[in-house]
Amino acid sequence: MNDVIIIGGGPAGYTAALYSSRAQLDTLVIEKMFSGGQMATADVMENYPGFEEPIGGSDLALRMEKQARKFGTVVLNDEVLELDLDSHIKKVKTKNNTFESKTIILCMGASPKMLGLPNEEKLRGSGVSYCAVCDGAFFRGKTVAVVGGGDTAAEDALYLARFCPKIYIIHRRDAMRATKLLQNELCCNKKIEFLWDSVVEEIEGKFGVEGLKIKNVKTGKLNSISVDGLFVAIGLNPNTSLVKNKVELNKDGYVITDDRMRTNIPGVFAAGDLREKYLRQIITAAADGASAAYTAEQYINENMKYFK
Ligand code: NAP
Repeated sequence: MNDVIIIGGGPAGYTAALYSSRAQLDTLVIEKMFSGGQMATADVMENYPGFEEPIGGSDLALRMEKQARKFGTVVLNDEVLELDLDSHIKKVKTKNNTFESKTIILCMGASPKMLGLPNEEKLRGSGVSYCAVCDGAFFRGKTVAVVGGGDTAAEDALYLARFCPKIYIIHRRDAMRATKLLQNELCCNKKIEFLWDSVVEEIEGKFGVEGLKIKNVKTGKLNSISVDGLFVAIGLNPNTSLVKNKVELNKDGYVITDDRMRTNIPGVFAAGDLREKYLRQIITAAADGASAAYTAEQYINENMKYFK
């Protein structure tokens, strides 16, 4: 039996793993894709302390994994299908195995939201993307649009400006919510044009993105623009379907915890972007992971009699 099973290998997961393996707990991280989660899709990061020169998201992710492994964390690439959280000994069923653990730390993160337009799913991968760093280079020399006004939209537009001669930012309001530093960079970039107070009504194209029908939400006026790619950056949905109806979630599907990362189920903790909280950053995910591992250790010590 493991002491701690961590589901998800992003910054929350690997920091939890680092702390729990350093506390000499048997620690297993189960990650279905690649290390880093969303962090791995960030081109460069300038706001993670300790790196005065920007570090790539996937580079930082690999370093976090390596550091956790160094202290004994075992990492498994597998998909968790089901959790049995009813008794003191928790069961984790994956595609290939079933594991038992004294505690579980949920670190499944969040995934990009979709616009919900008719053509969107069909053209995903054929011009519609949710990851500029993953797909940007395919649009070299092309005109693209980014939808959204947050940090992700701003970073995506700046990243795409390396490859693309023209980038539209389509935002439903007349002001970005991205940090001022990013906004300043956007405004200085001649390749970027803002379409304020605007939403995408339709993605045009049969086999690939050819254009967008845009509506000005203030005037109601419709307009078409020709683009080869659409990057959607309108926020996140928590990856909590695995624990729906098991762990208490808020109305938006985020896991509710206390400040020690405890969920409503004893022995089950949550850390990172899937948690209801104020600020979603790599540093706050890592901080959650450290707290969750520390609380898990205390929980194990206090409940030893159930694990004999
Ligand atoms: P976000 O901050 O939630 O911003 C989403 C943006 O999309 C907002 O501007 C929002 O408009 C717009 N939007 C939402 N739903 C929409 C819809 N249906 N149609 C059109 N527009 C819509 O999301 P994010 O940019 O992905 O960032 C998520 C979190 O990660 C944030 O906490 C962010 O700070 C963090 N992050 C940090 C960094 C960094 O520190 N370098 C980088 C990336 C992300 P409104 O403004 O009108 O609400």
